Amino acid sequence: MNLVLVFLLSGIIACSRAKSAYKPTPRLLLVSFDGFRADYLKTYNLPYLQDFIKEGVLVEHVTNAFITKTFPNHYSIVTGLYEEAHGIVANAMFDAATKKNFSQFNDVDPFWWDEAIPIWVTNQWQENRTSAAAMWPGTDVSIHNTTPHFFMKYNRSVSFSKRLENIIRWLNSSDPLVTFATLYWEEPDASGHQYGPEDTKNMSNVLQEVDKLVGHLVKSLKVSELWDKINVIITSDHGMAQCSQERLIKLDTCVEPWSYRLIDKSPVAAILPYNETYVYDKLKTCNPNMKVYRKEDIPDRYHYHHNERIQPIILVADEGWTIVQNETLPKLGDHGYDNAFPSMHPFLAAHGPAFRRGYKRKTMNTVDIYPMMCHILGLTPQPNNGTLTNAKCLLVDQWCINIPEAIGIVIGALMVLTTLTCLIIIMKNRTPSLRPFSRLQLQEDDDDPLIG
Ligand SMILES: [Zn+2]
Repeated sequence: MNLVLVFLLSGIIACSRAKSAYKPTPRLLLVSFDGFRADYLKTYNLPYLQDFIKEGVLVEHVTNAFITKTFPNHYSIVTGLYEEAHGIVANAMFDAATKKNFSQFNDVDPFWWDEAIPIWVTNQWQENRTSAAAMWPGTDVSIHNTTPHFFMKYNRSVSFSKRLENIIRWLNSSDPLVTFATLYWEEPDASGHQYGPEDTKNMSNVLQEVDKLVGHLVKSLKVSELWDKINVIITSDHGMAQCSQERLIKLDTCVEPWSYRLIDKSPVAAILPYNETYVYDKLKTCNPNMKVYRKEDIPDRYHYHHNERIQPIILVADEGWTIVQNETLPKLGDHGYDNAFPSMHPFLAAHGPAFRRGYKRKTMNTVDIYPMMCHILGLTPQPNNGTLTNAKCLLVDQWCINIPEAIGIVIGALMVLTTLTCLIIIMKNRTPSLRPFSRLQLQEDDDDPLIG
């Protein structure tokens, strides 16, 4: 009988040890819906996205990198670097030393991307880890001689369903096991540009479509039994501001077009002047709704200075203003403006075994996403501008201090201590009796001394 008990107990102990020792390889899917402004989540009814958030975490506003454009911010998300550090400083660039040009139609030269190492490369340099990508900017480029093991050449006419189908198939491949995957979709950015974010009818339509894609994504992960095992981050690169024909800044009214080359366009225009002083002097008084900076005077908070690809003069339009040379308004919505504007911020939502459930916080930085992703995947991060501290509260395995909560706890504890101290002092000061001690007068026939 005793022997049977010993066997049973040892069996239970062995099972529980095996269970605690088993740790599945962490996996992560990073999804970007381009141009998804943070407050769309509050303005529009998006049931699939809200369901996703309910079971996971939400960061309401993500402070992205300046300039708030697509290529630079997508590279900041996957490197944790400001734009001056990772080298993708605009959607259109010119390198004076090599005379090379970069644009969204000419973006696969590794020269532009090699100043940083994105997470899909770091992931793949680790043993037994593989990356997969469906059209995230830069994933079809051989960065440091490495592309994701599975990837698609960028082609905007490929449907979301096709991209998702590939991602699911790659995630289901066990040899090699895909531990990091990324998925990109052009909406609601394209509609935001076309209609402007204040066109709530058209934006509502496109956001309903995007919401259905989120539903499609979650359903596909559930059907392939990945939903409970994989970590999913849904985020974006920037928001969108409403533009207007009434808010145009025409450079031709201030400076001759032959005196400079316009490298990148509104709302942060990159100017390569042929005579810097001449062009700067003309531009600096051009329009009160546009800030004009020489490269060395760009404010530190933009972290947009230390790179050869940043042009000698940059023009920063005020929110909702458009810089043109002599054209009419090119689009009703735009982004790229100061990253302090809430309209430029995207959101971040995440779900999976690494994330808490039902947790919300107000803000984090785009550059903090990278150290968080490296932590989840168990990768040693490359040097970066982010910090894991800002993301700790989102993660189940981290102890986090919420500053307002901590202040509340400290104030509460101080109040309790003060109350206790007061009570002790009051008790101490209370003498047993204010009456002076006097001997009880006992009557001769009284045999109970306590009465009287
Ligand atoms: Zn974008």
